[in-house]
Amino acid sequence: MNMNIPDPKELEKELNQYLHNKYGEQVKLGVAPLSFPSPRSDKFEDEKKDKSKIISKIKFDLKPEELEAYLNNYVVKQEEAKGILATKICTHFNRIQYWEENKNILKPSGVGYIKNNILMIGPTGVGKTYLIKLIAEKIGVPFVKGDATKFSETGYVGGDVEDMVRDLMAEANDDIEYAQYGIVYLDEIDKIASSQNLVGPDVSRTGVQRALLKLMEETEVNLKVPHDFVSQMEAFENYRRTGKREKRVVNTANILFIMSGAFNELEKIIEKRINSQGIGFISRDTFSKREEFDYFKYVKSEDFIKYGFESEFIGRLPVIVTLDELDGDDLYKILKNPNNPIIKGKKMDFKAYGIDLKFKDQALYSIALNAHQEKTGARGLVSAVEKVLLKFEKRLPSTSINHLVVTEEMVKNPQDELNKILSNQKQYNQNDLYQLMQREERGKLRTYIKEREKDFAIQFQEELTEELIDLITDMALESGGGIDEIYQEIKREQKEILNFEETFYSRNHIKLRFGHTAVIAIIKKAFKENSDPYQICERTFKNYELGLKLIKDQLKDKIIQVEEEALDNPDEYLNRMIRSTYQ
Ligand code: ADP
Repeated sequence: MNMNIPDPKELEKELNQYLHNKYGEQVKLGVAPLSFPSPRSDKFEDEKKDKSKIISKIKFDLKPEELEAYLNNYVVKQEEAKGILATKICTHFNRIQYWEENKNILKPSGVGYIKNNILMIGPTGVGKTYLIKLIAEKIGVPFVKGDATKFSETGYVGGDVEDMVRDLMAEANDDIEYAQYGIVYLDEIDKIASSQNLVGPDVSRTGVQRALLKLMEETEVNLKVPHDFVSQMEAFENYRRTGKREKRVVNTANILFIMSGAFNELEKIIEKRINSQGIGFISRDTFSKREEFDYFKYVKSEDFIKYGFESEFIGRLPVIVTLDELDGDDLYKILKNPNNPIIKGKKMDFKAYGIDLKFKDQALYSIALNAHQEKTGARGLVSAVEKVLLKFEKRLPSTSINHLVVTEEMVKNPQDELNKILSNQKQYNQNDLYQLMQREERGKLRTYIKEREKDFAIQFQEELTEELIDLITDMALESGGGIDEIYQEIKREQKEILNFEETFYSRNHIKLRFGHTAVIAIIKKAFKENSDPYQICERTFKNYELGLKLIKDQLKDKIIQVEEEALDNPDEYLNRMIRSTYQ
């Protein structure tokens, strides 16, 4: 049967007639027009506004020494790398800002201009990725990590290299402008050196180098890839929103490229060159194990070319950074660092079961030595810690044990030590060692913060007072948070107190000023009560508006200093102030 289907309008009329007959006036059908949805331009504008907010958060004007001091909070050793990376990456962003603000000054381009793209040389697990991630986070730019082996093993497909830039878009919340300030980090770059054993150039690898070269200089990466269904859908969605069929491209001119690799055979090439040039004969054998000669520090472009890189490619990586291997002592320092995510993470995991985890220094040292034997740098630390704690993490949550002190014996023989604890649970919960460690922990953390005072001063342009160090220590112990995060939080809360002072002034025309120790005490209270300083101020000083108005004339434009004791008994403090004005 061939039935004629009416058009939507007619269908709506017919159905409404039916519904009217059956249910009366109340029920009516609305048929959405079967047309193409119209562009939602308002929403798109809102999204655009939201996105530009992200860019305003980029710290273009960070200073090299501030960034270096920040890195010192987290990264052990690698002093030279921290200095060079902090300098060159800060300069990259400050330079972008300078050009944006001084459009009248001719930006050097093309042949004359070389971006601060960076080449990092160093073995696995010494902090290469960690450094770049920390830097990207601090500056507030999107970051992606890729692996060059992907390009060489699967055979070269031009699109692969550009995929990293497309991945950057995902990290950038799909904001093209934000992505254009991102950092692309490509590891195992030594794997795309053309093979030195082949006669003639290794086509596929030099092909990858050339594709990367284009990205490193300046090119436009099309976000729509013909073979990629998702990007096609995104283009369609974009058209639906904006009504415009725009070509979406990411320009790579301001994207910072950082390449890294272990470059195992490169040392020999450098050694050979140095020795053949006769600049004083330096042989590996003349150095004992401890003071091994670091050939990487003398690397030149010609060594890289011999290694299998195109000279143009190396020319686009003007900053070379070498990272040192980490020995057992370095790994120990990493574990002892209160900002280290491994120990912090483990403490959190146990806390989730109501178990307070503490580590004896000797235990950390043994773990560090075990990890060092793996020869994977600091990467071995996670598994070395797991190896000791896994059995405890499985068993203890089902027992009455409320704390665990990790000792050297536990590292050596976890199962035996676990059995001992289990056979004597009640006594274990009251053991003296734990009490002692609790007392020691605060002192140790405080000493650590004090030792790093210089970095703090550079990073935050503020000298740490004893009261502030105490506050940071207490908050870090209580929350398990990193020192840096806690300091930032304290700064934010200080601003809230300033805010209260300002609001108080705008309401009453009376200037209150909280002294340093009062500010610290308010923040401490807010932290303890899980509240915020502004509310604490509102609550504590609620009678001050009325009280101070009584003496407003006498005060004239004087500033009223509020000290710490006001917090314990605000009304008494206020009365005293009133009395002293009348006397
Ligand atoms: P790679 O050099 O291979 O890129 P990573 O930076 O990924 O190594 O290091 C792995 C992890 O080891 C990091 O996430 C970090 O926790 C730790 N780590 C490595 N090197 C250091 C270091 N020098 N200081 C502090 N932690 C480090």
